[in-house]
Amino acid sequence: MQNEIQDILPKQEYSAKDDEEENRFLQRYSRHLMLPEIGEKGQRRIAESSVAVCGAGGLGSAALFYLAASGVGCIHIIDPDKVSLDNLQRQILYTTPDIGRPKSYSAKDTLSLLNPDIEIIAHNLRLNHKSAEQLLQTCEVVLDCNDNFSARDALNLACLAQKKPLLSAAAIAFNACLIRLHPGVANAPCYRCLHREEPNFINIPRCDTVGIFAPTTGVMGSIQAAEALKCLLGKPSRLQNHLLWYDALAGQFSEFACEKNPKCPTCS
Ligand SMILES: [Zn+2]
Repeated sequence: MQNEIQDILPKQEYSAKDDEEENRFLQRYSRHLMLPEIGEKGQRRIAESSVAVCGAGGLGSAALFYLAASGVGCIHIIDPDKVSLDNLQRQILYTTPDIGRPKSYSAKDTLSLLNPDIEIIAHNLRLNHKSAEQLLQTCEVVLDCNDNFSARDALNLACLAQKKPLLSAAAIAFNACLIRLHPGVANAPCYRCLHREEPNFINIPRCDTVGIFAPTTGVMGSIQAAEALKCLLGKPSRLQNHLLWYDALAGQFSEFACEKNPKCPTCS
């Protein structure tokens, strides 16, 4: 009899904990569960998924907030920089006391408070070909929120080799753009296909030389998160191989079809 009770008790405790987790899940994501396009099945799919966000600046801040709030089960944050005062104008993940802290650690702390039910892994490092190849192994979707071509190139190569969806975004001055790529899939362009000319590393405009209108990064980072969630849910998108261009000054969105470059030095 005693043994029987001991057998039963742990199961009851386990079941109570399970119920508590289940209720929290149903309540936290209730507004997603109401959407027939997501529902409980879709939300559980999101909860089981793993995403990499490379670059935790302006674009990454917006994207990371929405991915964490939406319950992506495992989020890798990759950024080698520390928070500086001039980041705070647009990088909404950080507050004044974070100045001087590594962005990946600071972002992890903030997002863990927002959603303690997900796993967040901070990588305080600069991406190169080798680290990109290793880090992306377990990720299903990759968000390119970088501000430099070498990191973008490393991500593109790794996504090409591993046939992973790559959501590449950029922002400068009053403009931002985004494209959903699936390099490695038949006839699909890769990131390098978009650059017919050899990228000029010296004259590429940067936020710290040209300036950046703060909300442009938030707009495009949010769309990046939306596209990432849609990738996880297996939803097609018009932005697949189409570049979305946002001109904040004009208040205008435009779209351009992109094709595989048969002379691409990376994928052809
Ligand atoms: Zn290519």
